[in-house]
Amino acid sequence: VRYTEPAARQAIVDAAHSLFGRGLTHGRTGNLSVRVGPFILVTPTGSSLGTLTPDDLSVIDHAGNHIDGQAPSKEAFLHAAILRSRPADSAVIHTHSTYSVAVSCLPDLDPADAIPPITAYFAMRVGQVALLPYYAPGDSALEPHAERIAGEHRGMLLAKHGPVVAAKDVESAMDALEELEQTAKLFLLLRDRGATVLDPIEASRLSAS
Ligand SMILES: [Zn+2]
Repeated sequence: VRYTEPAARQAIVDAAHSLFGRGLTHGRTGNLSVRVGPFILVTPTGSSLGTLTPDDLSVIDHAGNHIDGQAPSKEAFLHAAILRSRPADSAVIHTHSTYSVAVSCLPDLDPADAIPPITAYFAMRVGQVALLPYYAPGDSALEPHAERIAGEHRGMLLAKHGPVVAAKDVESAMDALEELEQTAKLFLLLRDRGATVLDPIEASRLSAS
């Protein structure tokens, strides 16, 4: 999806308010971005998604350089890296959603497939979720990992931190983020009960990555 700048600003603000209002991220956590031509609009550093306005956003380029507006989120480099490696996608959302963070803290996850395909919608909207190694928030050493992994995974978990998803537009990224969070919750509910998962062939047939 090709966004105009005003449409991108409004889409980010609407999604930010929705995420915050439903408790999918809290405090001053979470950041969103949308590609607009050669630039990326991203939420500013230190902002609450609950009170964001269209004029608050930062403009960066695809190398992550600050171009205009307020100082970008210290996680903006992650958005730029993912959008560089996914040219068909225009939106990235990162939150600290509780159940996804909880899963990202578990030992023994498969780094290439951190959450099993419990339901068909998860396979369709998210696909295989990669687990990226822990780095302190804002540590740009994460950048090369994210850029490499994002080419094959629209959904990622940052270890001990939170989920990141990319999609063609903000609405699809919201769907993927919410599906990831709900599936993380189901995974935690079912993990010790020997729940079945989708047949691997069916999961890959449905897969969105
Ligand atoms: Zn974060």
